[in-house]
Amino acid sequence: METGSRKGWENYIRRVRPYVPGEQPKDKSIVKLNTNENPFPPSPKVQRLLNNLDAEIFRLYPDPAMELLVEELAKFYGVGKEHVFVGVGSDDVLSMAFLTFFNSGKPVLFPDITYSFYPVWCELYKIPYETQPLDENFRISVGDYYKENGGVIIANPNAPTSIYEDLDVIEDIVAHNRDSVVIIDEAYVDYGGESAIPLTGRYENLLVVQTFSKSRSMAGMRIGYAIGSEKLIKALNDVKYSFNSYTLNQVAILAGAEEVRDRDYFYERIEKVIKLREYAEERLEKLGFDFPKSSANFLFATHKSVHAKELYEVLRSNKIFVRYFNLPRIDNYLRISIGTRQQMDKLFDFLESYLSGRDN
Ligand SMILES: *Cc1c(COP(=O)(O)O)cnc(C)c1O
Repeated sequence: METGSRKGWENYIRRVRPYVPGEQPKDKSIVKLNTNENPFPPSPKVQRLLNNLDAEIFRLYPDPAMELLVEELAKFYGVGKEHVFVGVGSDDVLSMAFLTFFNSGKPVLFPDITYSFYPVWCELYKIPYETQPLDENFRISVGDYYKENGGVIIANPNAPTSIYEDLDVIEDIVAHNRDSVVIIDEAYVDYGGESAIPLTGRYENLLVVQTFSKSRSMAGMRIGYAIGSEKLIKALNDVKYSFNSYTLNQVAILAGAEEVRDRDYFYERIEKVIKLREYAEERLEKLGFDFPKSSANFLFATHKSVHAKELYEVLRSNKIFVRYFNLPRIDNYLRISIGTRQQMDKLFDFLESYLSGRDN
């Protein structure tokens, strides 16, 4: 059967508007501040492990339970290993969680300004959703999450705003939603927030999701994880095993475990990024930018007189990449990842000369 020029089978394709990830330019001379990666490398112990790897390990399937990594994460967070789920980046973990928990047919709730992957998964899995407006300061109004729903997902700190909501706010939302699964996406929590992980001991319906991509410097390795009650973790694993038993590869399991073991290095690296964030705040302020207090490894900045789109474009043509979202309410903001001192200086020195030349 044909309808117009469309073949029959073409009518039955699952049509989705995909999430558009930030660019990964090949040109190494580009100052890349557009995807919130860590400017510093993984633990030297990870490097040592990779130097000593034998390709023989690829002959066998990896451990489907990823025990080595699960146990290391369980130890790090002080929970039992039955409370830890691991996946191929937190995008994989979150997507699996949407598929596993958001099946009531009622709308899933999340803020109108947040990680733009959430509506994409809802559309992919045909999950109804309803966005809740953040207030004029991009803060959550907890009352918006008291209504009947099929689940809640909150990024804390939020992206792209960088704002952290107090744990009391999170607990309030969880406590008002005992009949739904509440997911807290903590991709940036290590940069200044307090994790909701301790609350998972008291709330069976709370799932906390984190990633190796930001504070653990391993975006390219693709590791994410969730911590929650035994019931939630078991449900996630049942779906995982119905989908693909072997999600993480041998190297990711080994390198991930090694990274988690090196605690001192992890905390030192976070401190370095926070110091650079403070430096970035200082310079941005001098340049006439305004931004909310960041608890993440990026700043969400708007300039008092020059539009963000103009700045994004001029930066881009000068090989400085930041993220710009042409979306309602945030189209006059730039999301600037915290880079090395050298990268930050290139950005700010450029802005300084561009803005002063423009004023004249
Ligand atoms: C970066 C990010 C993720 C995804 O990270 P992965 O690389 O897939 O682990 C998830 N949520 C938010 C809010 C992020 O910023």
